[in-house]
Amino acid sequence: MGMQCCTSEGVSVMIKKLQVFVVMISIVVGFSPLPAQWIHAGAASGGLTESPGGFSGTSSVSYDVARWLGSRSAAVSYTFDDNCPNQLAIAVPMFDQFGFKLTLFTVTSSSWGWAANWTGLQSAASEGHEIASHTIDHQSLGGMTDAQQQTELQLSRDSINAHIRGQACLTFAYPNCVTGNSTLVGSFYIAARGCSGQIVSTTPGDFMNISSFVCGNQGLNTSDAMESQANSAATTNGWCVYLIHGINGTEPGAYSPISQDIILATLEYFSVNADKFWVAPFGTVARYVQERNAAYVTETSANADSINAHVGDRVDNVYTRVPLTIRRPLPSGWDSVVVRQGVYILSSRKVKVDTATYVMFDAIPNGEDVTIINETGNRVGVRNEPSPPNTFGLFQNYPNPFNPATVISFQLASFSHITLGVYDLLGREVALISREALPAGKYTRSWKADQTPSGVYFYRLRAGSLVQTKKLMLMK
Ligand SMILES: [Zn+2]
Repeated sequence: MGMQCCTSEGVSVMIKKLQVFVVMISIVVGFSPLPAQWIHAGAASGGLTESPGGFSGTSSVSYDVARWLGSRSAAVSYTFDDNCPNQLAIAVPMFDQFGFKLTLFTVTSSSWGWAANWTGLQSAASEGHEIASHTIDHQSLGGMTDAQQQTELQLSRDSINAHIRGQACLTFAYPNCVTGNSTLVGSFYIAARGCSGQIVSTTPGDFMNISSFVCGNQGLNTSDAMESQANSAATTNGWCVYLIHGINGTEPGAYSPISQDIILATLEYFSVNADKFWVAPFGTVARYVQERNAAYVTETSANADSINAHVGDRVDNVYTRVPLTIRRPLPSGWDSVVVRQGVYILSSRKVKVDTATYVMFDAIPNGEDVTIINETGNRVGVRNEPSPPNTFGLFQNYPNPFNPATVISFQLASFSHITLGVYDLLGREVALISREALPAGKYTRSWKADQTPSGVYFYRLRAGSLVQTKKLMLMK
């Protein structure tokens, strides 16, 4: 899709800007340089701009988009190649314990040394791990004709898409780190991984050759060495990608094995430093970058009670979008706010930067409009707390009563293993909504109750020794 410009749409945008300007005249946003974690989101008629101003004029309101989800300093991706069996047997359960997601670059031919374990891969995919392509038979693309490369690129992707439900195969890793025809690769994948051992910049110079660090006895082979590269990425707001093959040296012939204890130590490190590092699959980070660089926000209305805005991106493709972290200065006196997108309550928090207070939230681009609701002086609702939350809390579901889906919000003051379930009046479990490990923060989970009869139920959140219970009503 090309950019639209300069017609009646542009005029209506101008009018909208003017309306917002009048309503929000009391908010004056200075032009102080943005902290490195943020970039300005473009206005409706342009792409992302590095200069201030989602809206024109010095007293306008500007929206910013975070370089990385949650305005963290760096992105970190763990990628695994070659179908080494311990990746499913050891790595995936370890990552699940922390709530982190990884990427499995899979060789799809059944004559490959370790044939793809489709059952295991499907199970990993259902937990949110990325299943991506490492060709059909692990031959270097470098020595192939274009036609041969096309076969490797296309059929491996199609095979993964045929076996793995719930996600699309979007990314690729070069066998033996040998790149091929990048135009061809780009016609099948949104990003491809090499292994030249460098930190990837905030926006990769070449999406078809994104660097990674080989881990294990041929590369980074201590947790300190791995964490040190992630910290280098944090100083430049970059992206640190790890490449792992064998685990524990018990898989004959696996390249550069690494001890599971080293991986575990890094997961603990990233869990403790969850405010600094965004650990996410390779394809999720690649999508974030592409969306973030094409993001724009249009504020459509604003009054004393609420602000409406559309968060969009101009990424021209059909793959599922990932949430972007957006911030907006809060009007003075808006001490408590809730942010919704459609019926969903978004993860949000208030942050102070110098004299300005912002609301920061994660919204899915090109979805329903976002509404920032002033809850100051409060009606009943979800209260917004400064982050990280200093108390554990379970909030009233929304909507309530509901049919058939509702959203439950909660917050954690520290890293916790949580269980969120729904119970009938006799205490019998009706649904297990979530069992996962989460860092401190605010979260929302939804419950679709189409198999459950009308009635009053309890929902209960356990986080370690802490428990809270609330009532909800399903009305069909
Ligand atoms: Zn390989």
